[in-house]
Amino acid sequence: MNYISTRGGGAPASFSQILLEGLAADGGLAIAAHYPTLDAAEFERWRGLSYAELATEVIGKFADDLPRARLAELISKTYTAEVFGTSEITPYRPLAEGLGLLRLSNGPTLAFKDIAMQVLGRLFEDSLVRSGGTLNILGATSGDTGSAAEYAMRGKERIRVFMLSPRGRMSPFQTAQMYSLADANIFNIAIEGVFDEAQDIVKAVSQDAAFKERLRIGTVNSINWARVVAQVVYYFKGYFAATTSNRETVSFAVPSGNFGNIYAGHVARMMGLPIEHLVCATNENDVLDEFFRSGVYRARTAAETRQTSSPSMDISKASNFERFVFDLLDRDAERVSALWEELARTGQFDLSGTPEFASLAGRFGFVSARSSHAERLATIRATLHETGVMVDPHTADGLNAARAFHGAGPMIVLETALPAKFAATIEAATGVVPERPARFVGLEERPQRYVVLPASVEKVKDYIARHSGLA
Ligand SMILES: *Cc1c(COP(=O)(O)O)cnc(C)c1O
Repeated sequence: MNYISTRGGGAPASFSQILLEGLAADGGLAIAAHYPTLDAAEFERWRGLSYAELATEVIGKFADDLPRARLAELISKTYTAEVFGTSEITPYRPLAEGLGLLRLSNGPTLAFKDIAMQVLGRLFEDSLVRSGGTLNILGATSGDTGSAAEYAMRGKERIRVFMLSPRGRMSPFQTAQMYSLADANIFNIAIEGVFDEAQDIVKAVSQDAAFKERLRIGTVNSINWARVVAQVVYYFKGYFAATTSNRETVSFAVPSGNFGNIYAGHVARMMGLPIEHLVCATNENDVLDEFFRSGVYRARTAAETRQTSSPSMDISKASNFERFVFDLLDRDAERVSALWEELARTGQFDLSGTPEFASLAGRFGFVSARSSHAERLATIRATLHETGVMVDPHTADGLNAARAFHGAGPMIVLETALPAKFAATIEAATGVVPERPARFVGLEERPQRYVVLPASVEKVKDYIARHSGLA
């Protein structure tokens, strides 16, 4: 399997070559040169597999330059009941006739990002042991990505994590989850600024090629291709759980921010999984919903980006979206480059009136809906009363969007976090404080380890250089 850039530049690369990166050298995103497809016999066989076996099959189709036995071993160590709470890893919970939840949030940090990040940690470690190298991971987080990355990389000998977070702007639970880690290879950097400033520092450091090479800087952001591929697995798992034969069709509703999760659903569909609708659910930050309704993609400014009660979906632009547009335009890299140039210049591009946009829903199954704060609270309350299941605010956006699109088969809503992470919103909606897993009781009272730095590229570079173990 070769990987190419959505902007058409650079030479094709292997999975191992793109593992530590997501961004291609020409500014585009790495993407499989084609999507692997399954034949009916293989698809039938997959129905009977455990999560780890299924993950080995799916990831193996993309990571075909890693020996299969080694991949199987890494994956079987990753997806265990000990780490993910159940041997099913992603249990399916029917809620009503034709509607169910696929529970993706029982990993170490109680959000779906653990599923990809845990395997990424193993893949990175394996690659570094083999090359004899070390890696300094640099990231910025508004909450869930940072903790998922730290829990996946903690204690790994060849890896250090430098995670920037906006000081005082995460929930107390999210803050404590990250800052209470005592592992010597984890460096929490609280930036005196907002998330966008932290993100800009990461970008600036990544653009300094000499620094990046000297300090062996890598990233684990949502455009990392291996993360996308690891997320494809549970679309298959959810399909098998909600159906009894491979002739049936399902739909998925996906709480979306950077378009990584739902893009993985698109990949599963391109591989041949019978998905009717992929429902892209957004909150008030509706840049994606606006595109699927109108054909206009208009990135928001930082000032236009609202703080909502589903904060992990508060985005101004969707970083994985370019991969879908590449497919939508029949992989015409020149057109993609031109659109992203226009986006950089004018803040938007417009595909309304094109034949590609007119055929989008029919060809690719994408539809969308947006939820407000009031709708989120009402959905959390109604779901608890009608089914006895408590959902988090992001999953509530997914459930609310799902309502509008009844298809031929079951609608599977992806549960992207547990309510315990967002206790204040849940209590406001239901009057009930969500239970938290035993290992998180007293979390906020534990000692915290972090440094505070100003929003300065130079100060962050200096800190990394002094703590990289490479100076
Ligand atoms: C990251 C995240 C999302 C958004 O996922 P994308 O892959 O960025 O679209 C939704 N819900 C939760 C809880 C998240 O942590």
